[in-house]
Amino acid sequence: MSRKTLIATNPANDKVLGEHEMLDAAGIAEKLDQTRRGYAELRELPVAERARKLHALADLIDERQAEIGEIICHEMGKPFSQVIAETKISSAIVRFYADHAEEFMTPKTKEVPGAQKAEIVRDPMGAVLGVMPWNYPLYQVVRFAAPNLAGGNACLLKHASNVPGSAKLITRLFHDAGFEEGTFTWLPVSSSEIDGIIRDPIVCGVTLTGSDAAGKAVAKTAGEEIKPSVLELGGIDPLIVLDDADIDKAVELAIDGRFDNTGQSCAASKRLIVLEPIARRFTEKLIDQVQKLRIGDPMDENTDIGPMSRKDLRDDLHDQVQRAVKQGAQIETGGEILDRPGAWYAPTVLTNVAPGNPAFDEELFGPVASVIVARDVEHAIEFANHSEYGLGGTVVGQDVKRAEQVARRLNVGMSFVNRPTTPFAQLPFGGVKKSGYGREQSEYGFGEFMNVRTVFIA
Ligand code: NAP
Repeated sequence: MSRKTLIATNPANDKVLGEHEMLDAAGIAEKLDQTRRGYAELRELPVAERARKLHALADLIDERQAEIGEIICHEMGKPFSQVIAETKISSAIVRFYADHAEEFMTPKTKEVPGAQKAEIVRDPMGAVLGVMPWNYPLYQVVRFAAPNLAGGNACLLKHASNVPGSAKLITRLFHDAGFEEGTFTWLPVSSSEIDGIIRDPIVCGVTLTGSDAAGKAVAKTAGEEIKPSVLELGGIDPLIVLDDADIDKAVELAIDGRFDNTGQSCAASKRLIVLEPIARRFTEKLIDQVQKLRIGDPMDENTDIGPMSRKDLRDDLHDQVQRAVKQGAQIETGGEILDRPGAWYAPTVLTNVAPGNPAFDEELFGPVASVIVARDVEHAIEFANHSEYGLGGTVVGQDVKRAEQVARRLNVGMSFVNRPTTPFAQLPFGGVKKSGYGREQSEYGFGEFMNVRTVFIA
């Protein structure tokens, strides 16, 4: 019987890019056995040696950014210049863990009554399974793998089915940096195999970035196996524009926050909540600027908006827009599938959006901005917190103190002032409510799958 394959298709033109063989049951078992051996070696390596390999990985990402950029651009349609930005944050994250591995692994000594010595020590626990999405094919992988490899956990990657070429190249980068098969391993499998993989004894935990449906499925299995999980799920992040905001600046931030990666970011500014006194001027300017976005070949460095990553997701988005309109939203620009091969959707602005409308309540994972008008600051905060999700939130205003006070009242994992939610290696990334639990990046991301061991010598 022939093996099943993962087929990569270019969403810009529907052309098939390649086929990649998937693992059958015996192949998965072999990879897990390799991982048992790989973990046993990795955990014994001095921390400095693991850090050295991470430095090599960061350098490789920088050196090979054009090659990475091309394959990601072809497989999921992200404009090339934005993939280059993705490679930069990715190498920064890897370098951060390389630089801080010794510090994070250094035991903390405590003064405790009756103890000659009392220490808190971090130990690795096994292999962490990362179930990753296609929207930032490199960044999502390094932000789970770098801290775990630094700490001595092996990594297993289940990448999204539409980016197998990216998964293969990323795996090669880890191997070239010295994290060989068994320490970093790609499992080209379908999501139906994940349950069994989580249950394997070498797997000590699972981290998933993706939809809440996928998150629920892996968390259920992890719960049954009493293994820790981290979930980085969706978001309908608010971007509040206060009445003292500079309109040009606010529109620039809104466009950057909403349309980067063709709107396919978990922490995109999906709900633009504008105070009534400036709503008309803000909306007019926003529509004007959205109409100026350059749609085109994602390999062209001048392109702002590429295709969406898959046609089915584009069709789901269009269905959401149509339902939003049926319930009173108004299309100011866009709102249509572009008539050409590939998964293209016109950059869209919706107005007249309020709670109860799909454009307010649901995550629209594509280039659609929803404008929501609030009477005053309290009303804006009420709107912002009226969501099942709580990933990030931005407040825009010239009085920075006032904007900060508003930002701190958002029920989210990440509050930003005068900047859309942006990942930084030094700062934790993650959300509350249905946006998930646990954190990636920073020292918090390092600790998620480590055994925090108490050592007490009487
Ligand atoms: P998705 O369909 O949930 O896929 C994500 C990963 O989960 C893929 O590897 C997928 O494999 C796998 N998967 C799907 N269903 C599964 C199941 N029942 N059991 C186990 N694994 C399963 O999500 P997506 O469409 O790729 O990504 C979009 C979502 O991710 C959005 O909601 C977005 O907000 C969220 N996201 C969150 C963050 C964050 O940091 N919070 C970052 C980026 C994206 P297959 O590809 O084989 O189906």
